[in-house]
Amino acid sequence: MANIRRRTALRLVTGASLAALGGLAITAQPAQALQHLWGTCTRCRILWFTGNGTRGGCPAGDILDGGHHYLGLDWMVKTVEDGGAGQPGWRWCGLCQALWFEGNGGDPGACPSAYGGNPGHLPFTRPVAGQPGTSSAHYVLEDLTNRDRPGGFSGWRFCGKCNGLWDAVNNSLYTNNVCPSDHQPHSLWGSGNYVLRRFGSTR
Ligand SMILES: [Zn+2]
Ligand SMILES: [Zn+2]
Ligand SMILES: [Zn+2]
Repeated sequence: MANIRRRTALRLVTGASLAALGGLAITAQPAQALQHLWGTCTRCRILWFTGNGTRGGCPAGDILDGGHHYLGLDWMVKTVEDGGAGQPGWRWCGLCQALWFEGNGGDPGACPSAYGGNPGHLPFTRPVAGQPGTSSAHYVLEDLTNRDRPGGFSGWRFCGKCNGLWDAVNNSLYTNNVCPSDHQPHSLWGSGNYVLRRFGSTR
C-alpha cells in the first residue's frame, strides 16, 4: 500500500503548477526521479524514456534525427524503491533511452546507439570527460503472474535478442516492429506477459 501512496504523491507533485513547486529542489534527472514519461516508439515498438530531452536511437530510424518516435501514451514504470510485486533487473539505457533487462546473465543485448565496440545497452549515459553522467534507476516490472493488483495493460514482452521491452499488443496503430539486433521483428520467446499502467490512470 505504501507503493500506491507514493505513486499518488508523485502524481500530485507533477500535476501541480511550477509556482507551487517553488522552494523544492527539482533536479534534472527524470529517468531516476520519475516513474512516468515512458512511451512506445511507433517505429520499433520499444518502450523508451521520453523525458530526457533526447529521442535516443531507434533501429528503424532514418526520419528526423534517427531517434525514437512517440505514440503519446504516458506509461509508468516502478522502481525497486516503490516496492510491491514484479521482476527486478530492468534498467534504462543511457544511449538509446530504451528500457532493457540487465538480469539476463550479464548480457547487455543489442543497442541501436552502441559505441566503442560494446554492442549492448548501458545503464548510464555515455561518459564525457569533465561532465557528470546520469545512471539508471533499478526498475521493476509487473507481469500477469506477479503483480500488485488487477488492471493495467498486458502484452508487453521481453525480446531475447536485444533485451528490450517492447509492445507486442496486436494494434493497428503500430505499423513497425524492428529489433536492433538484426533489423527483423523482436522476439517473444521466453518472455513473461508484462503489465504496465498508464500515468494518471487508476487501473
Ligand atoms: Zn524506436
Ligand atoms: Zn540502448
Ligand atoms: Zn529486440
